[in-house]
Amino acid sequence: MSSGHQEIFYFGAGPAMLPRKVLEQIKEELVNYQGTDLSMLEHSHRSEVFIELMDKAEYMLRELMAIPKEYEVLFLHGGATAQYSMLPINFLAKNEMADYICTGHWSSKACEEAKQFANVNEVHALEQNEKVKINPVEKWQLNTDSVYLHYCSNETINGISFPESIKLDKTIFCDMTSSILTSQLDINDYDLIYASAQKNLGIAGLCLIVIRNDLLNKVKYNVPRVFNYKLCYENKSLVNTPPIFAIYVLGLMLNWLNDQGGVNEIGKLRKKFANNIYSLIDSSELYQNNIDVPFRSNVNIPFTIKSEKAQEEFLLQAENNKLLGLRGHKSVGGLRISLYNAMPMQGTQKLLDFMHDFESYHA
Ligand code: PMP
Repeated sequence: MSSGHQEIFYFGAGPAMLPRKVLEQIKEELVNYQGTDLSMLEHSHRSEVFIELMDKAEYMLRELMAIPKEYEVLFLHGGATAQYSMLPINFLAKNEMADYICTGHWSSKACEEAKQFANVNEVHALEQNEKVKINPVEKWQLNTDSVYLHYCSNETINGISFPESIKLDKTIFCDMTSSILTSQLDINDYDLIYASAQKNLGIAGLCLIVIRNDLLNKVKYNVPRVFNYKLCYENKSLVNTPPIFAIYVLGLMLNWLNDQGGVNEIGKLRKKFANNIYSLIDSSELYQNNIDVPFRSNVNIPFTIKSEKAQEEFLLQAENNKLLGLRGHKSVGGLRISLYNAMPMQGTQKLLDFMHDFESYHA
């Protein structure tokens, strides 16, 4: 957003920066959506206007993500956290088991939640020598009877990412909250993908689900209505009033992404931004990131500065330069740069210049 004189760049991990064009369109259409005399804050979820908008969002998502016809798309409430409960209650009986691959904060949360409902095979997949890395699959003690395997493709807080999808002959569920639409996927590598919207898909309140349709027949019987994937599918995500405004913003985000050349183009750009930042960190005496190169996230880059005092000084000066949202998550401290799709080149360049100057002064 423009502050009037100096442009602000927001590196927060989510809710995240939205493209200026999207914000401006929201502003323009807020009171009267496309000549309908109602705002999208007011339109009914049963109205033609909304149904058309939701169908279009699904169509664009299918195009941008190359979602095969064997997969259904759901727009649900409750964020990714709700899925942490929904996955076990939809797919596991009390005596059944799932594999949970733990590589950081969010995958561990998913694992803890599942323990309330069924048996969990908790696989700690991180290894730390000098640097942190994810163990190779061969080292994981998986359960041969597990109903599914769950993992998180990109750990938003820890900055650890799987360099490629897990290819195992198992039913695979993946939390893609911070990495969805940041690189082209082969959807066939997954059985269910989910992502909260407030990073690359717009605003909070919406969770996107992409689910193989044969899984819907495996949903258990006693699942509460709004949490039941099969019912949600049968009711076209309208078991109850959906997060209408968030679905509207999703449509705007997808349009915008399409105008940027789609997932591959924007993915290449972000990789370049991330490489520049990691190069600066690695050649610096001041900044540190302790993730082994192949497992570094291109989306969330956590780093530290030797002293707490210098870290606070960094944040203060960054803020004075209109570079915001750089404090690390409270559970790990330090600093973090989030590079979602909406971050323009000027933002990363300005941050790089700032980090460079700060280092020259403090190293
Ligand atoms: N998973 C990941 C990878 C996340 O980054 C987050 C939020 N930062 C969540 C799950 C939780 O999302 P929500 O708060 O929307 O439930």
